[in-house]
Amino acid sequence: METRFLGRSGLRVTPFAFGSWLTFGQGGPQNAGKMVDYALERGINFLDTADVYDNGAAESMLGRILTKHRRQHIVLATKVYWNMSDNPNDWGLSRKHIFESIDDSLQRMQTDYVDLYQCHRFDTTVPLDETVRAMGDLIRLGKVLYWGTSCWTGAQLREACEIADRLHVPRPISEQPPYNMLSRQIEDEVLPTCAELGIGVINWSPLAQGFLTGKYRPGVIPEDSRKAQLGMSGMFLDQVISNEEAYERLGRIEAVAQQFGIELPVLAVAWCLRRPELTSVILGASKTSQIEQNMKALEVEWTPELDAACEAACGGEPLQTA
Ligand code: NDP
Repeated sequence: METRFLGRSGLRVTPFAFGSWLTFGQGGPQNAGKMVDYALERGINFLDTADVYDNGAAESMLGRILTKHRRQHIVLATKVYWNMSDNPNDWGLSRKHIFESIDDSLQRMQTDYVDLYQCHRFDTTVPLDETVRAMGDLIRLGKVLYWGTSCWTGAQLREACEIADRLHVPRPISEQPPYNMLSRQIEDEVLPTCAELGIGVINWSPLAQGFLTGKYRPGVIPEDSRKAQLGMSGMFLDQVISNEEAYERLGRIEAVAQQFGIELPVLAVAWCLRRPELTSVILGASKTSQIEQNMKALEVEWTPELDAACEAACGGEPLQTA
């Protein structure tokens, strides 16, 4: 599979990353291992996780799986920010939390370094220069090779780059936002800022947590789905499966898929890849057949006709959710 530079860095990643947010909550360790092995076998070199996924269990599981693989061949990304306990210092982007979290993550993942360490949200309670300096120091210590962000605004990314330049520490190389045919909020500010600053974009929930596969229908929740297995209370999926407007958009997107002879999940992933600012799409999957199907998105030829039809189908307005 082709590789691309992640932002303005020398790090080469595949156009797909494989994520471990909820994947590892279903089917147990054996299924998780099968999924990661399959993603790597198919040529994906980029794995995304976070300390908070299953309160450390996702990182531990990934660590066990990775003992079978050559570490150098993998770009391993994890995250820090969300609280790991009730202790007031055990969350956020303070120097203390960042320094303690990286050691916990490295231990759980049985590795000496993380390729990409991402600030899982922006911390409004900590001076940004403290966070940027801490990231720079972890890079100097060799525990982290590059750093990135998740769900930061364009203005926050710009300020982080300015501080990094002033402190002579490396800038963030990537931003990880949500982006799919129902959630396009990043198009106005985040994508142009990332392009201007040389920050790579790796998007999450390309299938709106499974909704854009068309398997959820009003009042119908497949038994083997994420919604049936994990509830997803309060999550985007929980909101869209009872949202009439979401089904209307889905219907229009399905008609485009049919017209152009492209499977619906494949179209939804290809739609993300059409943007040149996007470096990698983070796939989630509970079955290897889903990875296989979604990876066909790379083969879709993105023509102006297909682009216009998708634009008309999904529109630019954010979906009204609760
Ligand atoms: P998606 O929107 O792609 O949803 C993936 C889920 O959809 C799968 O687990 C599966 O669930 C279902 N699915 C996928 N492909 C198919 C298919 N072809 N046919 C039918 N069902 C399918 O991505 P995620 O929401 O999982 O996000 C991907 C990754 O992004 C996460 O693992 C995580 O690494 C990252 N992430 C980051 C966040 C952040 O704050 N930075 C937040 C959220 C995610 P099932 O079969 O169980 O229904």
